[in-house]
Amino acid sequence: MDEPRSLTREEAEERAALIAIGRYDIAVDLTGLEEGEAIRAVSDVRFTCTSPGASTFIDCAADVVSVVLNGREIGAEAVGGRVALESLASDNTLVVESVQRSTKHGGGAKRYVDASDNEVYLWTSFEPDDARRVWACFDQPDLKAPFAFTVTAPARWTVLSNSGGPTIETVNGSRRWTFAPTPPLSTYIPVVNAGPFYEIRAERGGHDLGLYARQSLAPFLDRDAEELFSLTDAGLAFFGEQFNLPFPQRKYDTVFVPDMGGAMENWGCVTWSDASLHRSPPSYLERESRALVLLHEMAHMWFGDMVTMRWWDDLWLNEAFAEWACHWAAASATPYTEAWSTFLAGWKLGGYSADMAPTTHPIRQPVRDVAAAAATFDQITYPKGASVLKQLVAFVGEEAFLTGLRTYFSRHAWGNTVLDDMMGAIEEASGRDLSGWVRGWLDTAGTDRLVLERAADGGLALRASGPKGGPPRPHRLDIGVYDKTPDGALVRRELIALETSGELTPVGEIPSADLLLVNDEDLTFASTRPDVESRQTLMAAAGRLPSAVSRAVAVTTAWDMLMTADISTEEFVRCVTGVLARETADSAVEPFLRLAVMAAERWAPAALRDALMSDVAAVCLTLAENPAHRASALRALARIAVTPAHLDALRVAADGQVDLRWRILIRSAELGVYEQSAVDDLVARDPDPESWVRALAVRAATPDPVAKQQVWETIVDRHEVPMGPPVVDVATAFWRPGQDDILAPYAERYRAAMPTMHRAGMVAAINVSAAMYPWYGVDSAFADDLVGSAAAPEVSPLVRRTALELTDLLRRVLTARGAITRPPTPPTTADLG
Ligand SMILES: [Zn+2]
Repeated sequence: MDEPRSLTREEAEERAALIAIGRYDIAVDLTGLEEGEAIRAVSDVRFTCTSPGASTFIDCAADVVSVVLNGREIGAEAVGGRVALESLASDNTLVVESVQRSTKHGGGAKRYVDASDNEVYLWTSFEPDDARRVWACFDQPDLKAPFAFTVTAPARWTVLSNSGGPTIETVNGSRRWTFAPTPPLSTYIPVVNAGPFYEIRAERGGHDLGLYARQSLAPFLDRDAEELFSLTDAGLAFFGEQFNLPFPQRKYDTVFVPDMGGAMENWGCVTWSDASLHRSPPSYLERESRALVLLHEMAHMWFGDMVTMRWWDDLWLNEAFAEWACHWAAASATPYTEAWSTFLAGWKLGGYSADMAPTTHPIRQPVRDVAAAAATFDQITYPKGASVLKQLVAFVGEEAFLTGLRTYFSRHAWGNTVLDDMMGAIEEASGRDLSGWVRGWLDTAGTDRLVLERAADGGLALRASGPKGGPPRPHRLDIGVYDKTPDGALVRRELIALETSGELTPVGEIPSADLLLVNDEDLTFASTRPDVESRQTLMAAAGRLPSAVSRAVAVTTAWDMLMTADISTEEFVRCVTGVLARETADSAVEPFLRLAVMAAERWAPAALRDALMSDVAAVCLTLAENPAHRASALRALARIAVTPAHLDALRVAADGQVDLRWRILIRSAELGVYEQSAVDDLVARDPDPESWVRALAVRAATPDPVAKQQVWETIVDRHEVPMGPPVVDVATAFWRPGQDDILAPYAERYRAAMPTMHRAGMVAAINVSAAMYPWYGVDSAFADDLVGSAAAPEVSPLVRRTALELTDLLRRVLTARGAITRPPTPPTTADLG
């Protein structure tokens, strides 16, 4: 079959003007999957046409067996993944039979064989346009319709779909599952999962909740079930009440599936990577992150499933809102009350970094076709989008914002919307004209810079400058005024609330203070710089700030200064280790440790690397004395252990802990000690059915060209490492500092692989292009060459965007290492791609 064409915006508009879908009845046959790869489907579509006699097409990127339009068999040929439909009637019945024979690599449907017990599982995931790979449909978000599934599967299997309460009958030794029609859904939201799943159900808050995982992961699902049920219950109650629209279906399933990156908001049947069922006791950050993913996908039931963007240019109406809503719900309705500080020290930094790169774009932008849409599932749409919504909440007030959301849902439930529908509702509720806000925040790329200045009269003013020398946006932000106590603690004297307009906003008279913290409470999205007097306190005493979010503002300000070469890696490491030495907030320790490790390992000049890693190791040993932080401190220590004493401390601490022992083996292998017997021993002890992936990470870390070659092929050429955290873990072990000579050839291999990286589906493309990006054995000439190679037409927009964004970051890293003397292009000159 030829490569399927990507639907353009014009084609989608034309088709939506011509037809309306009444309903899909889809019969899916999975009985061949125990032995082979094929999924058979018969898609029966009822639709009307406003202009009888006209033509259109239905999408089908599988092998088409037969097509019957209004009782008449027409040619069963799909060209570019499209079947032409001519001479439409006003009411049409279309039946398309198709077979998808390729389900190994997860483009739409993934068949997975669990190597530990040989059980077979099948999951589907369709965003943005992979439904067409599994059955024929009009694959665009604004042609919504009810979906009724009938699925035939091996008798031992459980079949899961969006609706609950299927009827099950035995047919010729298989079982047929008939599901009630869904409410009207976009084509990327339906789902079919199947396999001999392990199941746990509970009745909570009037909902019938289900949890599913592979049989081999049953002990981990048992361990986490109560926490997952209680978060699901809290989330459904919170969103239903806040949006004044309860989730209107009794059943809500969470299905953990193998070899899937991330999670997908299928209506009533959310699928997740089962890497989030952690194989060793999860850390605080892992539990908090999982709660946030759970709430993010749940928020999509409203933002995305019930109300859907008309076209992909408004993807932020789905993703930015879900990302904002999950942090808001976590902080308001779960034990993870400090979720916003984790957001700042983790996710939001990714948004700042992406916004500095030449690939940045306005949050809302024209999206030519679906392939281009795939490139917008990025750090601008997610963390920057969520940050900008947090700013909007501060700008109009939470009550007005929520009133606007309630109006939006009551007006548009089960329909499609554009930006104006949402902003209009918030304008009505707040009484504020938001046109300037929309222009500045949604239609302009890049980050504003906010700096405090002392005016001639001695008063303070906040100077705002916009991206590309343009006007700054309006900001609602706070400035914290801090004094040092005799024992060195910083106490907040005052929190100054400010709303800026234009370039210079007076702050007023402030008697001298030890620290003025711009954007304290982190309400806005901006690059800030301390005034001259505050800088010393910020760098040396950020750990003495009283709240987790203020400390995170200080650390992320320092990180931003490292990114623009305003401070050295050494200064950054001193700042963050100073904070870590005193950090008590569970939500902050791991994100700060990650930054410290990242800086010492990747950003340090080679001559300083070991010294900075030792500084981080020392703070890890201090943190390990606190039982709450012990596990995460030891994990970080295992990554950057330098001296024999560090490794000895780890071996003592690891006593019987499989996860930590793996990490020690990886670090030891990196340092040149590879012990096959120790690896074999751990594979045997590890309850993880994918323990071979940990063993592969040990190989990956070895400074051995043959091992590197094998690992590269396993990840990049054969896609055999499960998507999500497993790929990231092995890739992290692969790209190690100090192995430049061995790694140098993989810079060229990365460049050569770019044109084919998208072929295993969107998530694999995101995962592999980011995780395998070269950080070592590269120089500025490589960065220049990569920019040229990424422009080739055969590189998909998604892979191109990832490669260019990371190349901008690489140039900053090389500058910090002293390998480039000139700082990289400042963000304000970013060309909008
Ligand atoms: Zn999402």
